[in-house]
Amino acid sequence: MAGLDIRMFPCLSDNYGVLIHDPSTNHTAAIDAPDEDAVLAALDEAGWTLSHILVTHHHADHTQGIAGLKRRFNCHVVGPRAEADKIATLDETVGEGDTWRFGPYEARIYDTPGHTKGHIAYWFPNPGVLFAGDTLFALGCGRVFEGTMEEMWSSLEKLSRLPRETLVYCGHEYTASNAKFALTIEPDNTHLQGRAGEVKEKRAEGLPTLPTTIGAELDANPFIRANRPEVKAAVGMPNSSDAEVFAEIRRRKDSF
Ligand SMILES: [Zn+2]
Repeated sequence: MAGLDIRMFPCLSDNYGVLIHDPSTNHTAAIDAPDEDAVLAALDEAGWTLSHILVTHHHADHTQGIAGLKRRFNCHVVGPRAEADKIATLDETVGEGDTWRFGPYEARIYDTPGHTKGHIAYWFPNPGVLFAGDTLFALGCGRVFEGTMEEMWSSLEKLSRLPRETLVYCGHEYTASNAKFALTIEPDNTHLQGRAGEVKEKRAEGLPTLPTTIGAELDANPFIRANRPEVKAAVGMPNSSDAEVFAEIRRRKDSF
């Protein structure tokens, strides 16, 4: 099959929008809709017509473009079942264990509560792409607003089991500040040192630091590494549970 075409574009102050396009059906889906005009500009540039929107969670900077795009394209809007009461425009709701078809491609849905109660992530095993919303960031993770620290940790753990080569698209460009923080936890992690250097170069050239991969995050992201003995030791909690260590790292980042 012809490849799934993926285009990412910056919008608002630090969000990313993403379009995916299946040439065989001519379908195009937006991953979240942070900003109607930015999505329209990206569609225009690609010469694509919007057929679907896949929503990760209810926050305004992921949903505020939906109503306008739906009026214009009458597109089919898919989103988290557990947040159907918060996102008025959903045509279809999905949750953990569901599969969702986009032309020849299949997405598997994961519930990833923590940042919001009903947050979901979309994993396309072929070609190996994860749309993580605000759950997992490059060298970071989302703030835990609605769920518990335990829930957020299990969400990250779930995503950590995906194949290492999985490409990860996230909702925001926070990587430079995430790298600075991550180095306070694991200053001697050579993978992290390498990433921090790359991130600096890319941002200096105005380039995005995304997508990342599951493998790169497993090597350098202190949040998803909270179960590693070396990270537990680094925060002075060698005998604490994975979730407790994650919670400590998340609290430190909140006041960083
Ligand atoms: Zn959010």
